[in-house]
Amino acid sequence: MSITQAPPETEHAHESLDGAVVKADFPILNQPLRAGQKPLVFLDSAASAQKPQVVIDAMSDYYARVNANIHRGVYDLSEAATEAYEDARRKIATFINAQSPRECIMVRNTTEAINLVAQAWGKANLKEGDLIVFTEMEHHSNIVPWHILAAEKNLRQAHVHIDDEGRLDLDEYAEILRQEPKLVAFTHVSNSLGTVNPVKQMIADAHAAGAIAVVDAAQSAPHLPIDVQDLDADFLALSGHKMLGPMGSGALYGKKALLDAMPPYMGGGSMIRKVFLDHTTWADVPAKFEAGTPSVGDTVGLGAAIDYLNALDMRRVWAHEREVVAYALEALQDVPDIRFFGPTDAQARSGVVSFALGDLHPHDISQILNEHNVAVRAGHHCTQPLMKALGVTATTRASFYVYNTREDVDRLVEALHDVRRVFSGLPSSTTAAARADGPCRQEWDAKTFDG
Ligand code: PMP
Repeated sequence: MSITQAPPETEHAHESLDGAVVKADFPILNQPLRAGQKPLVFLDSAASAQKPQVVIDAMSDYYARVNANIHRGVYDLSEAATEAYEDARRKIATFINAQSPRECIMVRNTTEAINLVAQAWGKANLKEGDLIVFTEMEHHSNIVPWHILAAEKNLRQAHVHIDDEGRLDLDEYAEILRQEPKLVAFTHVSNSLGTVNPVKQMIADAHAAGAIAVVDAAQSAPHLPIDVQDLDADFLALSGHKMLGPMGSGALYGKKALLDAMPPYMGGGSMIRKVFLDHTTWADVPAKFEAGTPSVGDTVGLGAAIDYLNALDMRRVWAHEREVVAYALEALQDVPDIRFFGPTDAQARSGVVSFALGDLHPHDISQILNEHNVAVRAGHHCTQPLMKALGVTATTRASFYVYNTREDVDRLVEALHDVRRVFSGLPSSTTAAARADGPCRQEWDAKTFDG
């Protein structure tokens, strides 16, 4: 059976998925192999997930039959394109249980969503000396926008640190809240550790202290059911490309009253009510925050990804990941000198497993894994403050999703044994450990732009 069909609503709803059946829906995971090549084991979904055929088809169908600029034309194609875009917005709103699609601003990714909050809400509502809070485990996209804003407005910052198991220090959080911050921002699920934070309680505590709460859902929306009303989140950001949708699609959820009261983030076409030579009045939300031509085809693709995830059932997606990760944490124990980062309790973490292998550099590990056609990520995962807290410059990260199976875990374990064989006896100075953190942005830029 293709998983693109909705599983019947039965008592089995909480049962795990069959990753092998799901995998069949993803053409990139089923490409013809070269002689002797093993099938790809893709363990980098936390960076970006693969796309099922239904998403690729939805985008190709949009461009083949529907494409036109939206919201402006009064001809059939433009109206159809507008309807396709707004339909995707409705799907996203339902997926996260927003009260209204108007509360969902379509953006390119989580980074853009958080910058929007910082620049639009932050500029209008914060003043010199106000306190803002974020945590040590944030992705740079939930740190740097606050640094920019803090420098612009002369704000004070406080940071929640992690404990030995990579969980937030909630006593410190409570202590910081007593200092009456105006805004707290935290990730729902850590992209580097897999830690699942108690966000509902953290939001309630923030509200009790008089702060608004911004949730980075980049690593949770793809993996577990999200209910923004139940969480009572003020803002919540997600990226389409991590949840089986295309790059260039994403959403910012915001409570309608907050969005209504905020000034726009960017100015231009589509976000206006009236433009005079000397001033402009704004359109209602969500248009007020969607200046310029949006990524219509990508958003349509995200809508198809949401249909697909709904058909799988997010409760089963989460159950599947629990099972694969529990199996992985167990099976990986077999690899000598492996050390895990993040909570030891498999039930308290997402499908992300970060680890170190002796003193081998993560780039060396991932290079050998690549020879086995096992794709993992090595680096700081855009969480440099977190790496500092862990006392490392980088980790190797395997991240699991709907299409991963126990067999994928077995392939990872087998390949890691080979990594041990390859490097046994070699001094670590002959490995990439001598490099600070492997190829970095500056090196790529030099290669790309300066020859
Ligand atoms: N937050 C978290 C927790 C993430 O994992 C990522 C992506 N790695 C981001 C934010 C940024 O997502 P994007 O690059 O899609 O904006």
